[in-house]
Amino acid sequence: MTDIQFQTVAVLGAGTMGAGIAQVCAQAGSRVVLQDIQDAFVQKGLQRVRESLEVGVQKQKVTPELRDQTLARLTVTTDRAAAARTADLVIEAVPEILELKNGLFRELAAVCRPTTVLATNTSSLSLAKVFAGVDGPGRCLGMHFFNPPPIMKLLEVVKLDGTEQATIDAVMAYAVRLGKDPILVKDSPGFASSRLGVCLGLEAIRMLESGVASAEDIDKAMVLGYGHPMGPLKLTDLVGLDVRLAIADYLRKELDHPGFAAPELMRKMVAEGKLGKKSGQGFYKW
Ligand code: NAD
Repeated sequence: MTDIQFQTVAVLGAGTMGAGIAQVCAQAGSRVVLQDIQDAFVQKGLQRVRESLEVGVQKQKVTPELRDQTLARLTVTTDRAAAARTADLVIEAVPEILELKNGLFRELAAVCRPTTVLATNTSSLSLAKVFAGVDGPGRCLGMHFFNPPPIMKLLEVVKLDGTEQATIDAVMAYAVRLGKDPILVKDSPGFASSRLGVCLGLEAIRMLESGVASAEDIDKAMVLGYGHPMGPLKLTDLVGLDVRLAIADYLRKELDHPGFAAPELMRKMVAEGKLGKKSGQGFYKW
């Protein structure tokens, strides 16, 4: 039986997503251990949580009491096995490298209790491959959070053929406790969100490349004409051109669909270090 309360959660990887996921889980009442490979990285993750909570307090979305309680429930470590051993739920948010994720889960399955739910935050990788050879496939699934996790309402819960219904039910219920609006998706390349989102982004780049309109006007078409909160080029800048290029290459291979072939302009920009917001230059100057 899965622990439906998920009182103790281990989050692996204290980067952009891991820190945010740790905050969301601690804010909802779970005790959270945030793990990374170096102390400097976990401290940076913790600092990110502190700053995010502070912004929440300033915007009156988080009370000072909740900020303090959240921080009191959050600890950090570099000891992966110790973090996972006592967890009811492990959420992995390490870089999008299949071998890395698969290796972690194989190792953790032997350390965790048999009832511990194992979740990956991968944005696109095949869950069947991420969890290949992992003991107890019934407790494995995807919990795909969106950036920034404390703000974005969507949680894409991704099930494998072998995921037990009890695991899905527990995670869907927990998602609601986290304040998320979950959707349930079958394990397939790019799931529901990345497959559609990346497709739109790539086509927008192709349109820019062939001079259909300026970046601003292509984005404006989707914002004003289709009610999107942000245009596909600006969103690509926010996610990172390198991140999206890797997903596009993966989907092109897995889905065998020419629509996912990355435009030359995108490859050129990535090679030149124009990665979007994080590098200061993408389709926009940041
Ligand atoms: P990131 O690079 O910001 O953070 C990854 C962290 O993992 C780093 O701090 C790194 O030190 C750490 N790490 C590396 N190897 C590790 C190991 N063996 N054990 C523990 N920690 C390790 O990356 P991110 O943007 O947070 O992405 C993490 C995952 O979330 C990826 O799978 C990505 O596809 C997915 N994702 C990202 C976004 C996004 O917008 N950035 C959105 C949804 C999902």
